[in-house]
Amino acid sequence: MAKKKKIAVIGVGKIAQDQHLPVIDKSEDFTLAATVSTRGIGHGALPVFRTPAELYAAMPEVEIVAICTPPGVRHAYVREALDAGKHVLLEKPPTPTISEMDDLVRRGKTAGKVLFQTWHSRYNSAVEAARKLLKKEGVASVRIDWRESVRKWHPGQDWVWEPGGFGVCDPGINALSIFTRIMPFPVFVESAVLKFPGNRQTPVDVEIVFKSGEAGGPQMSAGFNWLEESGEIWTIRIETKKGRELKLEKGGTVLRIDGVIEIEEPSEEYERIYEKFAKLLKKGESEMDDAPLRLVADAFLLGARHNVEDFYW
Ligand code: NAP
Repeated sequence: MAKKKKIAVIGVGKIAQDQHLPVIDKSEDFTLAATVSTRGIGHGALPVFRTPAELYAAMPEVEIVAICTPPGVRHAYVREALDAGKHVLLEKPPTPTISEMDDLVRRGKTAGKVLFQTWHSRYNSAVEAARKLLKKEGVASVRIDWRESVRKWHPGQDWVWEPGGFGVCDPGINALSIFTRIMPFPVFVESAVLKFPGNRQTPVDVEIVFKSGEAGGPQMSAGFNWLEESGEIWTIRIETKKGRELKLEKGGTVLRIDGVIEIEEPSEEYERIYEKFAKLLKKGESEMDDAPLRLVADAFLLGARHNVEDFYW
């Protein structure tokens, strides 16, 4: 077996603890070498650094980092990592703006390092099966419903409500990462309605209408909501041109066709992400798809704004 590659995780919050650290622990490709945490959170007996610069100075042999912070600081952290000669895995959403993401792509190329923009919801076999089916059968209509509880998934995380924190588009971008992966043609935002709690800077509810350049213009829309307390509703329903109903449920882990479950697998998104990262590193290739970020940015550009009830944790 090839030697495992040393990796450090930067930002030891909810997703790092829920997924990155346990998945790296059991990975055949990577071994965790250190963490970087402003709060000093470590993993087992491994070294913990307060800043990436301290890690890079103390452990130059660590050539790979996974950046698991909120998106607002990602651009600066990725640039610093590239300047230090590291390969980088990025949590989603990539950056708060498209120009920052473009800059990272350019810098990654110049530095000759691998950048991997992860979109975790894409890593389910139901998503790939849906993509192949739509390529064959075409698309008559699409409805995305992405509803969850912000209190459950982002407990106390005030950054989600700050400018650049994406609000409900933080989970909504996961739906768009599946949408942009499975659609057989480019899609655009036609209009959007964004509802902001009166005391917050990002939306709690978003409704988007999409358009395409396709003849017959399939009707396509999405609704994101962050106050759903009955459990997660992460569903994409598509009618194909052949008249079949295809439903991706539970965040892309289940594929139902005409009411019958065809694929249902436990979510192993982060396992697949790290396997893919290992392959990209081996080939020396980057993957930086910005399509989901562009749709969110366009929804903010075109969105009509409404103020709704204040939000308190
Ligand atoms: P979180 O719990 O708030 O953790 C983010 C961590 O980043 C913080 O705990 C902090 O860790 C570090 N950090 C560095 N600079 C920061 C800053 N300026 N503001 C806040 N934190 C800073 O957030 P999370 O839920 O893990 O989300 C992190 C990223 O993963 C987001 O982009 C999110 O969209 C994505 N994600 C989240 C989930 C989920 O279920 N929550 C699922 C998939 C993806 P230290 O104190 O260790 O430095």
